[in-house]
Amino acid sequence: MTKGLGLYVHVPFCASRCPYCDFATAPATHALRGRYLEALAREIADEGRRLGRPRVRTLYFGGGTPSLLEPAEIAALADALRGAFDLRPREATLEANPATLDRARLAGWLVLGITRLSLGAQSFDAAGLRALGRTHQPEDSAVALAAARDVGLDVSLDLIFGWPAQTARGWDRDLAAAIALVPDHISCYPLELRLDPEDAIANWPGGGWRVLERWRSRAAASQPDDGAIADWYRLAERRLGAAGYRHYEIANWARPGKRSLHNLGYWRDREWLGVGAGAHSHIAGVRSANPAELGRYLARVASGAERAIDAEADAPVEAAMLALRLDSGLDLGRYTRRFGSAAGSRVRSALAEVGPAGLVRVSRDVARLTPRGRLLASEVFVRLLA
Ligand code: SF4
Repeated sequence: MTKGLGLYVHVPFCASRCPYCDFATAPATHALRGRYLEALAREIADEGRRLGRPRVRTLYFGGGTPSLLEPAEIAALADALRGAFDLRPREATLEANPATLDRARLAGWLVLGITRLSLGAQSFDAAGLRALGRTHQPEDSAVALAAARDVGLDVSLDLIFGWPAQTARGWDRDLAAAIALVPDHISCYPLELRLDPEDAIANWPGGGWRVLERWRSRAAASQPDDGAIADWYRLAERRLGAAGYRHYEIANWARPGKRSLHNLGYWRDREWLGVGAGAHSHIAGVRSANPAELGRYLARVASGAERAIDAEADAPVEAAMLALRLDSGLDLGRYTRRFGSAAGSRVRSALAEVGPAGLVRVSRDVARLTPRGRLLASEVFVRLLA
């Protein structure tokens, strides 16, 4: 088996649904939480047995809003994880919504050895938070960050740019507010309003896709245009670079030694196990996924059925796309040794096609996106997929 894997634990519950969000989420009712956490503990035990109690190299609690769980629920989850895995992670991250993180809950998570908090700040502008349908206030992020710092956690802040009616000056202010809090890591994602509702609506009664569709159509009509988004991305590169953050992945910046080890595992195409609704796994070269809809997830775990294999996944192409996201780039020689000369040639010719557009630079047999390529990465990925 593996030398150690990344373990992702999905906790789908949210106090409310943010209308732009496409993750597998669900209302945080007491009854639903109880049934879900029971199934999650069973899945954790099953997977630990199946994989021979593997060593967990990195641990990540994502969602949803895992910071919503109560201390007793966290303690039960900790017991399940410790019983099933050799749990000595170099890094353990908790995703948190600034509105739902208090010191008592944080103390509960510390028993699980959390080392890092990923805080969904999104904006420090009250109008921006309203535009995104968020329920927290701008000052909540600073309070949550201070609480995390007090107990010795590293902190990553998530920001969203390109929300309806945002201005360049407003984005600059958000970057300045984030930098002023001196987090260890910052992620900046443009607001993407996908028309792919499946995971977003699976577990929320009433409303459904029509409500989200109306919201997204209205929001899309007042979003900044692509040119502005590109300028603001470059602004983030300049501001964060000047503040000492290294741009190590398309949407991620870190202080020295503070990159996300768990997410690096995804981008470097290592093995990871995802447990919980909608969680994906990559073990022994096979990609698989759990259903995002809670009823189907509970039924799968209860029946002991295998998770669905992603037969469409093209492992060599996915590995190339993931590596190109990183500043370290894609080592073409190593890639060819791993996937064979046909896959290596396919990637080299796809990269040659986008070379004249200045999207990729190859040096010493390592391909890297250029600054322009980071903006237009999807054009490179489309060539790889073709
Ligand atoms: S953005 Fe975060 S808090 Fe909002 S619905 Fe999605 S997972 Fe929940």
